[in-house]
Amino acid sequence: MPVIVQKYGGTSVGDTGRIKNVARRICATQDEGYQVVAVVSAMGDATDELLRMAHEISAEPPERELDVLLSNGERISVALLAMAIHEMGHRAVSLSGRQAGIQTNTVFTKARITGVETGRLREELDNGKIVLVAGFQGVSVDEDITTLGRGGSDTTAVAIAAALGAEECEIYTDVDGVYTADPRVVGLARKLDTVSYQEMLEMAATGAEVLMLRSVEYAQKYKVTLHVRSSFTDEAGTWIREEDESMEKAVVSAVSHTTDESKLTLLRLPDRPGVAATVFGDLAEAGVNVDMIIQNVSEQGTTDISFTVVQADLPAAQQALDRITDELGVAYIIGEQMGKVSIIGAGMKSYPGVAAKMFKTLADASINIEMISTSSIKVSCVIERDQVEKAVRALHEAFNLG
Ligand code: ASP
Ligand code: MG
Repeated sequence: MPVIVQKYGGTSVGDTGRIKNVARRICATQDEGYQVVAVVSAMGDATDELLRMAHEISAEPPERELDVLLSNGERISVALLAMAIHEMGHRAVSLSGRQAGIQTNTVFTKARITGVETGRLREELDNGKIVLVAGFQGVSVDEDITTLGRGGSDTTAVAIAAALGAEECEIYTDVDGVYTADPRVVGLARKLDTVSYQEMLEMAATGAEVLMLRSVEYAQKYKVTLHVRSSFTDEAGTWIREEDESMEKAVVSAVSHTTDESKLTLLRLPDRPGVAATVFGDLAEAGVNVDMIIQNVSEQGTTDISFTVVQADLPAAQQALDRITDELGVAYIIGEQMGKVSIIGAGMKSYPGVAAKMFKTLADASINIEMISTSSIKVSCVIERDQVEKAVRALHEAFNLG
């Protein structure tokens, strides 16, 4: 019997009524002749609620205990869902991440899955049961409970789909697919039928929140076809799979954006080998995730380097930079209120003038570009935060995405 893996997000299981709705979907899938594994997120904002309590008790809760705490949100969901399925006359079993064989490294709060031990999953499926797996968690080689980072249930689902050789991994969420832009910003945004892994990776990395970035990396690596769709309708959503001839290969498929960037500029750094290595080595050690980096032309033996970090990493970045700039006897400046707009499209590779058109569009909207970075299928511009929504709308229109 073919295996299908489904993942239900927090909104889809937001209350007991919605849990029953999800239970009906799962039973219907089993009735169609599938062995079903459903990975479930914590109900509604349960994870935020647990985090809030932790922070009421401690400004910096021990990460091991945070993971023990946060893993409970998903365990509540699977237990209730199992009860709902029993009520419908089907057989189901709920499993924690550990019981489901999700093995991870030892990095608490953002662990990476290192393998899936499928023995228990297969046994339950072969016994005719629907298997419900608590998302977002696993067990480390030290036998501790770990969590996978916010949005991590997506990755649990993809990892299980890969390990079981599932036909498809369905990601049920509160939107009906992947859009050409955030529909909250662009009223005319359109649902995409198919998106390549590469495009989805770029979109997730530049602000599209529909899928966790790591889950797309995992899906690409193991060639798991993803279907992002709504748990509130029966309509098809967006398929994410390997690029092939049948795909549109639009020059630009989507516009994505973020509004939580900060820009830091180191002034007049000595222009000699090893300086950038020291600066970014120290930032990495401080756990700061650096996004865009630009180094200017060197003048009289010194050079400026600008880079961006997400707002949440700014305090740690400042701490590290205070130290570094003291040592080197240089200064730095901060631009806090920044954001980023990106255009993404698999067809961009073989089509000139796309970046120029983006810059012209922003110029026509009187938006100043602070930094630029590109990949073969993406162009990103850092701009002022309060200009981001205007930029997204202008680009969406300029590239005829509506
Ligand atoms: N419950 C976790 C979160 O809110 C994981 C997930 O939903 O995927 O981030
Ligand atoms: Mg999510």
